[in-house]
This record gives sequence, structure tokens and C-alpha cells, in this order.
Amino acid sequence: MINDILQQLHITAANSGVSTGTIWLDAKGPVIQASSPVDGQDIATVTAATRADYDQVIETAQAAFKEWRLWPAPRRGEVVRQIGEALRTNKEALGKLVSYEMGKSLQEGYGEVQEMIDICDFAVGLSRQLHGLTMHSERPGHRMYEQWHPLGITGIISAFNFPVAVWSWNAMLAWICGDVCVWKPSEKTPLSAIACQQIIQDVLRSNKVPEGVCCLVTGGRETGEWMAADTRVPLVSATGSTRMGKAVSSVVGARLGRALLELGGNNAIIITADADLDMALIGCVFGAVGTAGQRCTSTRRLIIHESVYASFTQKLVKAYQQLRIGNPLDENNHVGPLIDKDAVNLYLDSIEKIKAQGGSFLVEGGVLSGDAYASGCYVKPCIAAVENTYAIVQHETFAPILYVMKYNNLDEAIAMQNDVPQGLSSAIMTLNLREAELFLSQAGSDCGIANVNIGTSGAEIGGAFGGEKETGGGRESGSDAWKSYMRRQTNTINYSTSLPLAQGIKFDL
Ligand code: NAD
Repeated sequence: MINDILQQLHITAANSGVSTGTIWLDAKGPVIQASSPVDGQDIATVTAATRADYDQVIETAQAAFKEWRLWPAPRRGEVVRQIGEALRTNKEALGKLVSYEMGKSLQEGYGEVQEMIDICDFAVGLSRQLHGLTMHSERPGHRMYEQWHPLGITGIISAFNFPVAVWSWNAMLAWICGDVCVWKPSEKTPLSAIACQQIIQDVLRSNKVPEGVCCLVTGGRETGEWMAADTRVPLVSATGSTRMGKAVSSVVGARLGRALLELGGNNAIIITADADLDMALIGCVFGAVGTAGQRCTSTRRLIIHESVYASFTQKLVKAYQQLRIGNPLDENNHVGPLIDKDAVNLYLDSIEKIKAQGGSFLVEGGVLSGDAYASGCYVKPCIAAVENTYAIVQHETFAPILYVMKYNNLDEAIAMQNDVPQGLSSAIMTLNLREAELFLSQAGSDCGIANVNIGTSGAEIGGAFGGEKETGGGRESGSDAWKSYMRRQTNTINYSTSLPLAQGIKFDL
């Protein structure tokens, strides 16, 4: 099955990982072996970029920008519309590849491609609405307004867990804004990135899109470091761990470039005494075990009112007993593997830390063995009763470990929810209007995303996506996130016969 998909997506046994759009460079960098956490099989190799390859790509992108920025935005939108169509045609194949290379369930693989299609649709409409404001001038015979211009090269550094959607959130908006893109995908999922580049090539060609608008530079951390330090890249949009975000932000900041950061989360759901517990259960379990706990918005903490703590944790334990763990391409399974053995070791290490710091397990964890789990990357989702203050609870472990804790009054629960370094996603389960509104108020959740009667994961593209504190403060996708990809210019035009100065300043010759 996987061979048919690779063929459809034009992925061969050995691939160049460097492209300027329709041209694949004869890359000379290190060879990355792409393998699947589903069955441990090697899939194909990808040759990464050398510094010289990288520089060639950036120069091509710079030249392309000079032309692309002159295309009317709706014409750029038409290209993005056609990219959306190409993604629709290839949704099944790309979704399966994402599932196989990254290990998320097939439904989530399809969902990720659907998100790409959705952002294309959103960007097409937006291409006719990149509007600024007009202001009233204090000077007679003057007009003032602002307009938004393209920035230049948008560098995109993406994480393994959303190997294709994060690129599209950035690229589709950047393109309609008139920017060109250079994408450095995660070295753990290079084939999904190559597949995207292959899928859109015909669209680039048939629309005569300048070579360099859509570039790919595969590589590891070092390639990302080149991009962060590169003054030719005015905007670096980086998605990944807080550790990476701090490194990128300090390098981009030192050259006064722009960094758009989408980093780790430590997301909680508050379950109040007035919650619909059966509904809450679905949101909590999907949030905690979906993508094997490897979403930035995965539910990591449940803060449960003491009056429903016993009954709700009982329901949780029962639900966990019913989880089927196994090949994520088999739709009967709920939970797939972690990305690699390093991730398994981090999971095991966290379990030890939970025990050492005083936590106790309601559902035990562990690594699964046997033929069905030959990759060694399948782990049991587990639940631990903890205190919010434990060092391990304050930290994002990228694995299906769910923490439960009790609260007595809602102010205390909100304080616990906020008392972590990260600020991405949050939710409250309640049918009580006062509780819901307090949670959403300025005295409530401090996260970029706050939901009522919905879990923490599974955002729609229409809203701005991102979070506060160590999550990095960036916003991508919907609402007015497009402004990050453009530069604002304020224009004042004098159509009078004199030249009055602002603030009434007199200057006569
Ligand atoms: P990671 O930080 O290890 O790597 C992410 C990307 O950054 C990779 O492409 C990597 O090569 C690159 N990179 C690493 N160090 C770098 C450096 N010093 N300079 C430049 N580039 C560097 O993250 P990961 O393990 O791939 O992904 C998991 C993390 O991503 C989790 O923390 C998760 O919460 C986060 N994430 C956040 C969002 C969000 O929107 N907030 C979305 C997805 C994932």
C-alpha cells in the first residue's frame, strides 16, 4: 500500500530534499533516512542541503520576490485556490503518508490535509481583503491612510507532529501577502514535505509562478540556525519546542528580524461540578491520547472539582481500558506510536520523575512489545494523580501522560490552570454560565485559546492560533494573523497649496 502512495506522490528511494519550486537541486548535504514509527521500516532517503545549497535557494527566493510582489494579490490567491484543488485530489495519498511517516491516526492524517485545504480557501478570500485603515489628518487638505506591503522571504521552520499543516498555515497566507517562502521541515518527517512540493508543482508551472516562490531546504537544527541568523530572511516563523523557540528568538532578535513563534503547550481542562461528565469525557480522552499525546494542544492536565473527582476519574479509567493501541492506519485503533525511540525514552523518564516527585498512577504506563509493536515506539497512555506544582507537571512531556488533580473553588482552579510556564490552549467543562464567563474573562484563562465544553485540541483555521508566555506569543492561521507576513506603511498626502506642519509647529523661510 505504501509503495503505491509513494509512487503517486513522486517519492523515490533516494530524493533530493532541496527545491526552489519546480526545480530539485542536486543537494550535497547529509543523507537523512526516513523511517516509519508504525512498523519501524525504512521508507526512503532524503539528501539535505549544504550551506551552499541553502544560499542558492535563498538567492533564487530573493529574485522571485521582486516579481511575485508585483502580482495582484487576487492573482496570487488564484494560485492558492489551485493549490487547494491539488490538495483535494491528493488528500487520501498525502493523509496516508503523513499517518505512516509521523504515526498519527489515519483520520488525523486526513484531518491534517483537510486543514491545508481549509487554509487555502481562507487565503483565497483574504487575497481580496488585505486592507488598511484611513485616518483623519489634523492638517487641512491632507489625507492619511495605511497600506500593507509584502515583507520578503518568510522562513518556515516546522515540527514533526504537524508535518504538513503548519507549513500551509504559513505559506498560503505568506503567498497571498506577496511573500516568498523557504521551508525547513522537521528532519523527522522529510517525505511529507517533499510530497507537498511535488503536489503543487503543476500549479506552479502552469501559472508561471516565478521559481523561488515556494522553496524547500531539508536539514536538521543547523539549517534552521542558518535561517534564524540570515538577514535576507525578514520573518522566521518557527514551530517547535520552547527550547528551540528561545534559541531562534534570541538569534532573530539580535538582528532585529521578526520571529513568529508557535511553541510548546501545557494544556488543562477544568471540570466543574456543573459539567456534563459524559461529554467532558470524550473531549478529555481525545485531547490526551489523540496523536499519542503529541499535539501542542494535547490535554496534559485535568483540574477536577472535588465533588466529581471520584466519579469522573472512574469514567476515565474505564475509557482508558477500552483504548486500542496499534497501527494508526488501521481505523479500529485509537492510539498510534510515538515518533521515535528518543520520544519513548522521554516518556519513560517522565514516568520515573512522576513517581519520584510523589505522583501515583490511576492507569499505569509502559512500552508495548510483540509483533504488532515491532517499531518499539508504542506506549500505553497513562493517568497520574499529581500536584500542579511538581516540576514534571510544569514541563511539557510530548507523550500520552495525563495528570489529574483536585480543586475546591473555581478561582483556585483557574489559578492552577494558569500556573505553568506555557499558555497555549485551555478549556472548561461546565453548563454554568457564571463559571464559563469567569473562565473567559480577563480574570480567567491566560492562554491564547480558551474553550467552553470543547477539549483543548482541534482548533479551526478561522481563528488566530497560538499562545502566550513560553508558547511564544505568535498567531497564525485565521483572523488578522496575515498582518505578521506584511509590513505596514503609513502614508500622508498633502493636496493643499501650503505645507502646514503637524502639532502646529511653525517653520517659515
Ligand atoms: P523541535 O523544537 O525539536 O524541532 C522543531 C523544528 O525546529 C525542527 O525543524 C528542528 O530541526 C528545528 N530546530 C531545532 N533546534 C533549532 C535551532 N536551534 N534553530 C533553528 N531551528 C531549530 O520540536 P519537535 O520535537 O519537532 O516538535 C514538538 C514541539 O513542537 C512540541 O513542543 C510542541 O508543543 C511544539 N509544537 C507547537 C505548535 C504550536 O503551534 N504552538 C505546533 C506544533 C508543535
